[in-house]
Order: sequence, then structure tokens, then C-alpha cells
Amino acid sequence: MASDNGIQIPSRLPLLLSHEGVLLPGSTVRFSVDSPRNMHLVSQRLLRGTSLKSTIIGVIPNTRDPEHDTDDLPTLHKIGTAGIAVQVVGSNWPKPHYTLLITGLCRFRVSSLLKERPFVLAEVEQLDKLEQYTTPATEGVTAKDGELGELSHKFYQTAVQLLGMLDMSVPVVAKFRRLLDSLPRETLPDVVASMIRTSNKEKLQVLDAVTLEDRFKKALPMLTKQIEGLKLLQKTRKISPENEKRVFSVRKGGVLPGRQFNLDEEDEDEDGDDIAVLEKKVHGAKMPEAALRVCLKELKRLKKMPQSMPEFALTRNYLDLMVELPWSKSTKDCLDIQAARTLLDNDHYAMEKLKKRVLEYLAVRQLKTSLKGPILCFVGPPGVGKTSVGRSIARTLGREFHRIALGGVCDQSDIRGHRRTYVGSMPGRIINGLKTVAVNNPVFLLDEVDKLGKSLQGDPAAALLEVLDPEQNHSFTDHYLNVAFDLSQVLFIATANTTATIPPALLDRMEVLQVPGYTQEEKVEIAHRHLIPNQLEQHGLTPQQLHIPQDTTQAIISSYTREAGVRSLERKFGAICRAVAVKVAEGQSVTTTDASTSETQQGDKAAPPEMPIVIDHVALKDILGPPLFEMEVSERLTLPGVAVGLAWTPLGGEILFVEASRMEGEGQLTLTGQLGDVMKESAHLAISWLRANAKTYQLTNMVGGPDPLEGTDIHLHFPAGAVTKDGPSAGVTIVTCLASLFSGRLVRSDVAMTGEITLRGLVLPVGGIKDKVLAAHRAGVRRVILPKRNEKDLEELPANVRANLDFVTAANLDEVLNAAFDGGFPGTTSTHTQPQLTSKL
Ligand code: ADP
Repeated sequence: MASDNGIQIPSRLPLLLSHEGVLLPGSTVRFSVDSPRNMHLVSQRLLRGTSLKSTIIGVIPNTRDPEHDTDDLPTLHKIGTAGIAVQVVGSNWPKPHYTLLITGLCRFRVSSLLKERPFVLAEVEQLDKLEQYTTPATEGVTAKDGELGELSHKFYQTAVQLLGMLDMSVPVVAKFRRLLDSLPRETLPDVVASMIRTSNKEKLQVLDAVTLEDRFKKALPMLTKQIEGLKLLQKTRKISPENEKRVFSVRKGGVLPGRQFNLDEEDEDEDGDDIAVLEKKVHGAKMPEAALRVCLKELKRLKKMPQSMPEFALTRNYLDLMVELPWSKSTKDCLDIQAARTLLDNDHYAMEKLKKRVLEYLAVRQLKTSLKGPILCFVGPPGVGKTSVGRSIARTLGREFHRIALGGVCDQSDIRGHRRTYVGSMPGRIINGLKTVAVNNPVFLLDEVDKLGKSLQGDPAAALLEVLDPEQNHSFTDHYLNVAFDLSQVLFIATANTTATIPPALLDRMEVLQVPGYTQEEKVEIAHRHLIPNQLEQHGLTPQQLHIPQDTTQAIISSYTREAGVRSLERKFGAICRAVAVKVAEGQSVTTTDASTSETQQGDKAAPPEMPIVIDHVALKDILGPPLFEMEVSERLTLPGVAVGLAWTPLGGEILFVEASRMEGEGQLTLTGQLGDVMKESAHLAISWLRANAKTYQLTNMVGGPDPLEGTDIHLHFPAGAVTKDGPSAGVTIVTCLASLFSGRLVRSDVAMTGEITLRGLVLPVGGIKDKVLAAHRAGVRRVILPKRNEKDLEELPANVRANLDFVTAANLDEVLNAAFDGGFPGTTSTHTQPQLTSKL
């Protein structure tokens, strides 16, 4: 581009619209880029281009208020400066943006706009012919100059006068002096105007001055104004070199030659000294002594730092965060237990135990405001309302609510922040959360504490401990902040799917409240009281437009969802609402109750929908497709060697099939279905026990021999899903399944069981009874076999579930087998035992 003819800029230039500064030829200015058009310009032009030419862009001052920036292109200023982007720095924090360092080359005028998107491209006419500028400033006036010569001479003299008032030992002043002497005189107005402290308005005047005379005339008064200001300052106090350093504070101008004089602190121009503003904010942030000291130190460093240093942005971001943090801002608690009870009841159906405990907790808080009580941890399957209760607690207290998702967090700096040593360092989630809510006493919901990971980057659980410990958290130190922040006012609530994977030290700090899954009946109630009204509202529908009868809800629950909570149920209602919204919008009805009427209505597209649209089974199938789940228990129990167990998973209880088959072989056992070690052990235990008791129970191998394993291979399979299954509670199920296989008898089709076994045939208690029984109930099982010592857990079950199920508690395998087979099992001590069998022993 630099040819013999001087600098030639391309005739088509992409334009950067600048809100914040005016670029003049000969100076270098830093621009922060975050508006969509400018971002596109950087990403699609600057970062993609490979030639030097592609780094030339036009900078057009955008005088419109950025607050009111809209999608439309504002009327552009006609004159701008073409410049070379010499540096592009990208950052994602606090939001995605680029910082561009642009050196101005020459003026241009916009002839016509070629396109507005994704960035502005314009046909331009170059205004400054740079090759003309040859006169070094010191060479005096040339013959052709005339008025221009005089002007430029005067300008030069004034600049020298200004320099004379400053201390040459300051490097920046010396550099300015050198520039003044070496630059062509024609460039002086631009360079000087961008160096001395001038407002954007003044810079704009210089930019708009196309002829040199005009430019000198515009810039000269600015120079004299500075001299006068300086004189005034000298009168009042002696300028020390230290002062002068501040005079040359490097604010907007960035790198040379575009440094700025800051001759006079009182001279507040429209641009505003943002560091001064920041300083004011630091003092106004009401932060504790220690934090204030750090901030003031950083401010001092910031003032001395050139803007081009990457550290400038870091320090700046840091200070911005510090002033934004709610050091002493809090909301006032407005707790009224009576109102809290009503609110909790209104928001949530069922979950009585949990609501009771939450109310107790709140009541204690009301009596003793500085409660350093336990941290509540809601444990239960997804979609049972844990988060939603947390939200209600915040509402009853009148506090802000913020959810911090901990799932998958495996780096302690996620909690405690990164040290401020590299670009991209940020505060942790706790401090970020505080910044978001802007008060220091919010309710923080630590979601999924059981999913915390661990990695080389330290243990996030340890960091979380510090956050939750009332003895420590009044001085929680985020690595990024590096000063203590008082978290003692924050109310923490945690949620988890299981306590098994919560780090023990963390679990120790929390009071676990189990939130079990819901029964079918409870789900129907929740659906009609909460989910359906919510979904209707979210989709802009009214009960007058859409009606979902109870039996449809029941069908959705049993045929389209299989979950402990109500989340997918809610989604299904969402799907129905969307489908109906389309129909309502189209003015057409969905299939209604009667198939014949539905046909006629479908045929007649113009017919307005008959309100309310009722979702019956036919419509349900239309919208949600064929049923996803079927009551399959009874169907699958039609062959010997199948039994139904009950399993507990973090997602709630589930029914678990166990299948067995045998074939000729050498007594080998094959296990399939993603099993854990404990489950494999249970299988071996079961086989050993059955072999040991084969005679008692008349178990035989394939050819009727007394050892069921003789000449026989056995295959045990646990179908349904590729999820790893483990745990001892399948013991009784495996025994039942194998007993069925070896005896050729069918297991009762309506029975499910759970329990751990020992080698001697005892049945040991297991966990998760409530969830398991609910799952059995969901699956349509009638009889549940449980370990005797789990009998007490049955009390927690809803009455209707207890009434619908037949519970058999078993202390040993005898009792299990007896209950699992119709008419009992031979060899047991029950009444069904056939005497001749015992005699065979
Ligand atoms: P979790 O945090 O346990 O995974 P959410 O709190 O996100 O579950 O609950 C999922 C949805 O179900 C929310 O819309 C919530 O309002 C609703 N919900 C769950 N339980 C109840 C309940 N007992 N009463 C009313 N709505 C409920």
C-alpha cells in the first residue's frame, strides 16, 4: 500500500463504528468492540484476512448514544479515518468482546454504503494525500506556504511553548519533543489534537477539517487552552515531575504517538475520566477496610499503566468487579411464618414432611436471626420439586434466589476462582453469583452436590466446605478477588439425587431431607393443581381453550412417562399445549372425543375450534404418538426363569427383570446386563444356596439329576438399559428366578421383591424401600416381598399405596420362595409343603 505515491487506501473499506473515541491520522487508539456489526467486522474481516490490506479499516465516529443503539444503521458521520489494525485481543469476560489497537493513516469521505450487514462496507474517497507531507517541522516556512505557512509555524511554536512548560526528564515529554521535531508539520494538528487532552467533540472538529488551514485553525485554540490551563496550575502549585507523569497519564490515547496530556485535573470534559469515575466508585462501594486498601493499590497501579498492557484490562476488570460486589448491600428479610406456610402449601402439593421441616427451619430463623444452623440438603430423584422448594424459601424470606449448578464441577477454581495471573482468569461461581444478585444475603441453591467431580486441579468439595462452614465463611477468599468476602449472610441450600456420592465431609455439614418420588395419585393432583395451569399460562392458553381430563393425565403418567418426579410429565403437557396452540392459532380443532365428529371437523379446515379443546385418549395418541411404556410385568412372567426385582437408582425406584436360562454345558455361569461386582457376587451366592438346598426344594438339572448345575450352563441376564446395575438388593430376585428355572414353575406374575441374601439363606434389609415400593406400584405390581427388618419403612408410604399392595416380609429365603410362587414352594415349612417330599431328604 505504501508506494511511491504515498499511502493509498483501498476504495472499499469496512467501517468500524466507534462510540467511544475519535481516531485521528497519526495516532493510535484502542477501541473496545462489542456491538454485533463491529464484532462481525473483526471476526469475518480482520481475523480472516491474510494480506496487509485486509487489516485496513475505516473508523467512523458514531455520535449516536450507544444506549439507544438499535438494529438500524445510524446516520453515519461523513468523514472518518482509515487505519491499520495493529493488534486484536479477544476476551470472553465479562462478555465476549475484542479490543482493537488501530493506528490512523488518513481521512476519507464516505461516498456510498455498499452493505450494512454483517458489517458496514462503504465506497470511500481518500482525503489526505499523505505523500505531500514532506516538511519536517523544524525546516521553517517554505515559499508556497503563505497563510498556511504562517499558521503551521505558529502552531509549531505554540507546541514548543507547551513543551517548555513541562519537565523534559520525563520520558514521555522527551518523546513528544522528538516527535514534534521529526514529523512533517502538516501532520501536527492531528497528532497534537490526539495527544493533548481534548474532548471527542474537539477531536471531531479536527477530523472534519479537511483543508490544512482549517485543521490548524481548529487545533491551535486547543493547544493554547492547554497552555493557559497549565499556567493556572503552575500559579497555584508547583508541578513536580511526579505530577507530570500524571499529566501524561495514558488514558484513551494508548500508545505513541497518541498519548494524551492531562494538563488539568479540573478539566472534566464530556469524555469523562473513567479512572476518576472508577475511583469514585471504589470509595462509594462501602467495602471493608482490607478490600478498599487493595483496590486503592490497584488503582494506583492502573493510573501508571499504559493502556496497551494486557494487565491494564485485567486490573480494570478486577476493579470493576470489586466495585460491583454487594459488600454491604442486602435485602431486608420479611419473614412471616403464617404466610410462609400458605405460600409453601400453595406452591407445592404433598411433600408434607419436607414442608414441615422447612417451616421449622424458617421459624428458628425468625426467632434467632443470626442462625448458624445446618445447611438443608434436599435429596431425591429429579423433578420432585427440590429446586422449586428452594425458590419458595427465597420468596418467603423476601430474598434473592440464585442457583449454582455443581454437576460436573471438578476444578476447585470453579468455586474459588482463578488467580489473577493470566488473561481469562475469573472469580468463582460463588462470587459471580453474588455479583449477579447484587445483594449479600441471597438464597444460594447448590444444585447437585452429589455430582461434584475431582481432578488434578484440586478438590472442589474442599472449597465448598469452606463456603458452607459458618466458622470460616465470614472470610471466604476467592482466588481472583484475593480479599475476604463475608458469606455469612448467604443462605445455602443444597440438592442431590443421592447421598452416596456426596463427599462425607460435606455431607457432615448438611441436614439431609429426603424428597421421595410421587405416587400416581399425587402426580395427578400435582398435574391439575400446578403443572397444567403453569403450562397453559406459559403457552398463552386458558382453561377455556384447553381441557385435560383426569383420566388423560393418568394415561400420560402410566403410558408416556416412567419417572419418580414430574418433570417429563410437565414436558408432555408442554407438548400438548404446543399442539393445541397451533390449532387455536390456525382456527382449527384437534380430534375430539368422538371419532366420527373428529373426522368431520378435520375435513372442515375453516371450522373454528370448539372450545374448550378436550384432550381424550385419541387426541393424546395424535399428539404424543403411541404409548412409550406398557405395563409389561405380567406379560413377561410367562416362562419359568423370570422374576421381578426392585432396584433403587438416584433417579428413583425401578423394577428390574431377572431372566435365566440353562443349556447343556459344564456348570458355568454367564452373567450379562452391565452388572457391578456386588451383583455378580449375589448371583454366585444364590447359586450356591440353591445347590445346597436342591434336595429340599426338588430342584433338578435338565435331565432331572439332583444337582441343578450338573452338565448344565446357566445364563443370567438383567435386561433393560445399558446402565450399570449394582448393589446387593437383587439377591432374593436372583434366587427366585433360578428356583423357578430349576423347578420349571412360574413365578407369580404380580410379585416384585427386594432383599439381600446370605449364604445361609437369611434375608437382610436393604435401602430405598419407599422409592422401590412406589416403582412397584407404578408398574402395576400387587405383591411386594421385602426383608422383615424393613417392615418399619412401610410406615412412610402413602396410605393408598399401602392399601393397594400386599406386603410380605421375609426373614429367610424359605419365606421368599413361598410368597413368590402360587401355592407356595415345595420343601418349605409352610402349609403347602408336601410331606412325601420331606421324606425324600
Ligand atoms: P428438582 O429440582 O427436584 O429436579 P424441580 O424443582 O425443577 O425438580 O421441579 C420440576 C417441576 O415440577 C417444577 O416445575 C416444579 O414446580 C414441579 N413440581 C415438583 N414437585 C411439585 C409439587 N409437589 N407441587 C407442585 N409442583 C411440583
